[in-house]
Amino acid sequence: MNPTDFSAGAAWQRGAFVPIANASVPLTDWGFLRSDATYDVVTVWDGAFFRLDAHLERFARSCARFRLDPGRTPGEITDILAQCVRLAGLRNAYVEMLCTRGQPPWGSRDPRQAVNQFFAFAVPYVWIANEEQRARGLNVIVSDVQRIPPSSVDPTAKNYHWNDLTMGLLGALDAGGDSVLLTDAHGNVVEGPGFNVFAVRRGRLVTPREGVLEGITRRTVIEMAGALGIPVDLRALPADELRTADEAFLSTSGGGVLAVTKVDGRAVGSGRAGAVTQRLQETYWAWHRDPRYSTPVAY
Ligand code: PLP
Repeated sequence: MNPTDFSAGAAWQRGAFVPIANASVPLTDWGFLRSDATYDVVTVWDGAFFRLDAHLERFARSCARFRLDPGRTPGEITDILAQCVRLAGLRNAYVEMLCTRGQPPWGSRDPRQAVNQFFAFAVPYVWIANEEQRARGLNVIVSDVQRIPPSSVDPTAKNYHWNDLTMGLLGALDAGGDSVLLTDAHGNVVEGPGFNVFAVRRGRLVTPREGVLEGITRRTVIEMAGALGIPVDLRALPADELRTADEAFLSTSGGGVLAVTKVDGRAVGSGRAGAVTQRLQETYWAWHRDPRYSTPVAY
């Protein structure tokens, strides 16, 4: 790979910017060997970061929760992220910051002795659902794979303990679904690979309060609902309440508000993206132009 061709994306690793195809994590880094890492993903849309401060704050909280130190201030991280976007020349981008455990000195198994490592990269914007899926709405399968309990891995700190999500996703794809929702020990839906979930019931939004990553898009949906006068209930969401909802949608930095029109292959409500979902979708993209939430990249 040409060391100056950043057109497919740019990464920051071990003190240098490299084309995304040349970026790597050392094999012995516990980030790789033990999924011992945290990360956050912020997007750039039309040349501006969306809610960058919220993502930087969550990244700092995730690092603190897992006793990881990226060794950089939010300002320094911002500069690195912006430079990745600039080098790649992207107007719409998926921008990730990561902190891995690194590795303790040979012979030691004490994570406190590891030197934590910071990485970052920018690649073209990633959609959780493709164009066809977005047009018709998603068919989501409720899995009986249980999400790792919060008492084992804190889901509010963004992590790579994804084997449950990946195995659930494989099962859902095999069953003809587009994606998957995992459940907790009581049969409530919690979240899926890269997204939170909302049901719309009698004009109210319902989204799980606990056992989930507090998505920045989830927060945006809650704030948009406040602005639009739509009540929101943060509480457990039994799978049957999702199946019998008037509308359902996912929230994610990978596409915003994504309509769910089928659960387990059966229509939700009318079987089409509902009016509340569409209103939230329009507002989500409109808020990208709001200076309160956007930080332009200096190209
Ligand atoms: N839940 C999980 C497990 C995730 O990985 C993600 C995002 O990657 C989300 C929810 C949605 O979070 P956000 O809205 O900040 O993208």
